[in-house]
Amino acid sequence: MSYHKSIKPFTTHVPTWCPGCGDWAINSAIKRSFVNIGYTPSDVCVVFGIGCSGNMNDHLNAYAFHALHGRSIPVALGVKLANHDLPVLVVAGDGDTYGEGGNHLLHASRGNHDITVIIHDNSVYGLTTGQVAPTALHGMRAKSTPTGMIERSISPLALLVSQGATFVAQTFAGYLDHASEMVEAAMRHKGFSVVNVLQPCVTFNRVNTYQYYLEKSYYLGKEHNPKDKQSAMKAALEMDNERYALGIVYEDKDAPVYHEQVPTFDGGALVSQTPKRPIDVLTEEFLA
Ligand code: SF4
Ligand code: MG
Repeated sequence: MSYHKSIKPFTTHVPTWCPGCGDWAINSAIKRSFVNIGYTPSDVCVVFGIGCSGNMNDHLNAYAFHALHGRSIPVALGVKLANHDLPVLVVAGDGDTYGEGGNHLLHASRGNHDITVIIHDNSVYGLTTGQVAPTALHGMRAKSTPTGMIERSISPLALLVSQGATFVAQTFAGYLDHASEMVEAAMRHKGFSVVNVLQPCVTFNRVNTYQYYLEKSYYLGKEHNPKDKQSAMKAALEMDNERYALGIVYEDKDAPVYHEQVPTFDGGALVSQTPKRPIDVLTEEFLA
């Protein structure tokens, strides 16, 4: 299949990312997944966070919403609750998702909301020129930490597995085929699915480079059982030792998703239901 031709319906302007940035590969991986699943631009909604990753909002043709910093997940949940028949994807950075939006991530995980979150994990705030983000390595020197980051780095995969996300995967922007495979698997998963993409920021992060991840990442083998939470936590916590597992770390295909447990939705997606009371009547009640 010629991806160049087939992803064209999802392509708008040429991105402005720095040459060599991992965002380019993530952009392609997302579009490939849409094509493989059979979506057209009007079949899917993408909610973007703030950051270099969020600038994909200008380059990807689909229903889209550019949310506030750290607020892409609650906006996506709102879209999903209004129309649970619509596939909803979040594209955001590590600072956005694990920093400003960390609380939203936890609660979307425990709710098993049926959305997919793709995280561009470059360990810095790239758009604001390279301050450390929560996944930066302990001791990392950057503009915001001239003598080294004092805090320990967050363990994103362990956080997600422990809080109830039902699909947790990791990939590397240097491996486009693998990244496409993981994004597609996440989108096909029913429930809260997250792909942490190790994404070199070639301009502001001189530590987590392509070479760094080529040396420190490894594919999860057949011995890894993604259904087993203990194995998943073991693989997830390898990041603390600068070893990065690539593949599906954890998957639970049987957990009930949020919208299937809301009695109001028995009558179909909210967007297709006739409101019992007109919105202007409700508004008047609030204003009274
Ligand atoms: Fe990519 Fe970093 Fe450039 Fe942003 S600043 S486009 S993350 S390389
Ligand atoms: Mg970042």
